[in-house]
Order: sequence, then structure tokens, then C-alpha cells
Amino acid sequence: MADKRDYYEVLGVSRDASEAELKKAYRQLAKKYHPDMHPGDAEAEAKFKEASEAYGVLSDADKRRQYDQFGHVAFENGGAGAAGGFDFDFSDFGDIFGDIFGGMFGGGGGSRRNSNGPRRGADVRIGTRITFAEAVKGTKKQIEVNIKETCSSCNGTGAKKGTSPETCKKCNGRGQVTYQQQSLFGMVQSVRPCPDCGGTGKIIKEKCPDCKGTGYINTKKTIEVTIPAGIDDGQAIRISGKGEPGVNGGPRGDLLVVVSVSKDPNFIRDGYDVLSEVKISYPTAVLGGEIKVKTVDGEVLYEVKPGTASGTRVRLRGKGMPTLRNENVRGDAYIDLVVNIPTHLTKEQKDALLEYDKALTGEERPTKKKGLFK
Ligand SMILES: [Zn+2]
Ligand SMILES: [Zn+2]
Repeated sequence: MADKRDYYEVLGVSRDASEAELKKAYRQLAKKYHPDMHPGDAEAEAKFKEASEAYGVLSDADKRRQYDQFGHVAFENGGAGAAGGFDFDFSDFGDIFGDIFGGMFGGGGGSRRNSNGPRRGADVRIGTRITFAEAVKGTKKQIEVNIKETCSSCNGTGAKKGTSPETCKKCNGRGQVTYQQQSLFGMVQSVRPCPDCGGTGKIIKEKCPDCKGTGYINTKKTIEVTIPAGIDDGQAIRISGKGEPGVNGGPRGDLLVVVSVSKDPNFIRDGYDVLSEVKISYPTAVLGGEIKVKTVDGEVLYEVKPGTASGTRVRLRGKGMPTLRNENVRGDAYIDLVVNIPTHLTKEQKDALLEYDKALTGEERPTKKKGLFK
């Protein structure tokens, strides 16, 4: 996808813009570039689409989170849906357009809630669990999902074999009925889904027994999901076209695979950085020396500097989690060097420590045995 503009840039808002700010920015752009205001102006149309696409993503908390993490790549996983252009569902825009344009959309809109035109199917969520190590390397998971397939008995019409759905009389198959409405722009027509047929434009008299008139059959399918390196707990992979079927020939929704990452006993993740702790001996802290430390890539050698205080945090650059945008770009590892204070010493070790203490202070250490405590 070449030179796609950043969605925040498109809307002219900051990356931490609130929902209200997004809405406001989009409302202004939509008003400015709406095709009905610029008939035949391809540039305005492109701008309108770009803004709508950006708002479509950023106004959806899930999609926004994915976009923030993955960038435009977020909507390319699985290929089909988003590859050749954004698969855009105007049905979410009822509210925002309702007060700007009133019923202006009635005629030429296309796939919207208030018509029996093609509508995109709903997204489906499913969970999967991976280990911390799998999150570091990335992994593939076979996931069993229930997918609605077109019923073969009725070819998806929902009508019993040998019958076919009848055209709805109330709306003449349009799926929508028109009302007059007072709006910002004066009297406009407003279009609502037909109450008789629920917007499908068709009435089924005898339902298909195999799918009970829904037109779909639930089938179990195993699909392989590629989980990228660096994925964090709670993030989701969007797989285009594996969600609920669309209505009236609309595209399927997406499948969202929500990934849970198990905790690791050694590492705590902080963004793309990884925190851990390693115990070092007192002599190592004082004299310095080479120690082994665990990283997400396995053990590495680390040279402790002489005179290291307990709790010193050291950084291993690039030893953190891979970033989702580019797995070669990685966070850092932060390791706390904690001096180990032994609680059980052998007599020999105790004597050596007393010897050390004497050498350090030049005095005999007072002990209970010698009765010097009072
Ligand atoms: Zn059927
Ligand atoms: Zn109808």
C-alpha cells in the first residue's frame, strides 16, 4: 500500500485526540468535501473517502488501537478485504450524518443501514492463548471457528426449496420507506428501513427447513492465524472476510482473534521493553565480574561494573520485544541487579566474612559470644 497518509494527519488531529475531537474534525471535513456538495469533483470525492476511512478506523476503539500499533498494516492481514482499498461500512455513520445532512443520503448513498443494498456482515471475536515465548518469536495457531456458510438447500435465500422469497409489498422490494422530515436544510426526505421486511425487501412465506429461513448454515472450520512477533496481551489480529456474512451480497465481516499472552516467571513486559531481575553476589557487586542474565532470547553474559549498588538497573539495548511494525526494531531489556544477601552461612563463610569485616574496619567485630553487646 503505497504512501497511504496517516489517519491522524488526514483528520488533522493529534494522536491522543478524544472521540469528540475526532468527530468534530471529521464533521468539518465531511461537510467540506461531501460529494453531494461537489458533484463530479473527483478530488473532493477522494478527500471525502480518505477522511471517512480515517474516521471509520479511529472512531472505532478496537480499530484505533490496532491502527496505533500496526499502522495501515493492521487492516491488510488476511489480504482480501482491505488490500485493494478500505472496505468501508457507512452504517456506523448514521449518527454523525444524521445531523449534518439529514436525509440527503437517501438517493445515492449505497451500502447503508437504511437501504436494502449490500451491507457488510458483523465482526466476530474469538480468543486464543499463547505463551510469552511465542509472543517474542511470533507463532501460527490453528483456530477452530464457527463460520456461517450460505445454505446450499436454498442458496441463501432462506425460502423452502421450490419456493422463492416474495417481493415485499409495503416497500416494493426497496427495503426502505421514505418519510418527510424537517432538517437543517429545510424539508428533506428521510429514509427508514421497511418495518414489514426488516429492510431486506423480501418476504419469505415458507422457510427453508435446513437453515430455518436464515439462509446460512453454521460450519466449523479450522483456520491458521499468523500471530506476529511482539504481540501483547489483549491485542487482536484482524482477518478479513471471516466474520458474519454480509446482507444482500455485502462483504463478510472480519474475524478478530484476540490474543491472550500468558505471564512469564522471569519477565515483565512494559510496552516493548522487558523488565527482569537478576541476583548477584556481594563480591560480584563490589569487585565486578561476568554474570549470566536471562533475556527473551536466552542467556547472555553481562559484565557487572565494580562497585555496583544493589538495585542498579542496567539496559541491554534491543533485547526487548520485537515491535509489531518491524520485528527487527526491538525494545530494550532492563535488568535490576540485586545483591543477594545470604541467610544461611557455613562456619567457614562466616569466618571469612568476619575476617573481611576486620580488614575493612581494623577492629574485632563485637559478637554476642564474646559478651561485647550491652
Ligand atoms: Zn436454507
Ligand atoms: Zn419491505
